[in-house]
Amino acid sequence: MSEIQTLYQDLILDHNKNPRNFRKIENADRFLEGYNPLCGDRYTVYVKLNGDIVDDISFVGSGCAISKASASVMTSMLKGKTIHEAQELFTIFHKLVTGEHISNQEREKLGKLEVFSGVSAFPTRVKCASLPWHTLKGIIEDKNTVVSTE
Ligand code: ZN
Repeated sequence: MSEIQTLYQDLILDHNKNPRNFRKIENADRFLEGYNPLCGDRYTVYVKLNGDIVDDISFVGSGCAISKASASVMTSMLKGKTIHEAQELFTIFHKLVTGEHISNQEREKLGKLEVFSGVSAFPTRVKCASLPWHTLKGIIEDKNTVVSTE
């Protein structure tokens, strides 16, 4: 299969064309910018919390299809989840895109995120797929400088 076929599955194409939660949250509790200089992907992720629950999450910015679809799927999956669950999902997602072994139990939690498994064969794309997640991690860890993949 070509890179295009492996990476640009229907769900990724759909989320790239019609990104979910692609807006600014005016009264966000936290927001942070993430940048991937290798590809030029640049997004700001916004989070509104209710206690430790992700009440609302969104993003704005621009980049390649993989990064935009990843941000779109990430935000649609994390709404209503706890910060702990979000961190756990990032750990599993990171294993997926870097080609590490994933247990069946972990695979169940991935849901739609599994479409990004093809990324593991293309190291430069791993940063595109994980940029929104690294940005979210920065938010959770209360960083206030731009998160860069380099
Ligand atoms: Zn990219």
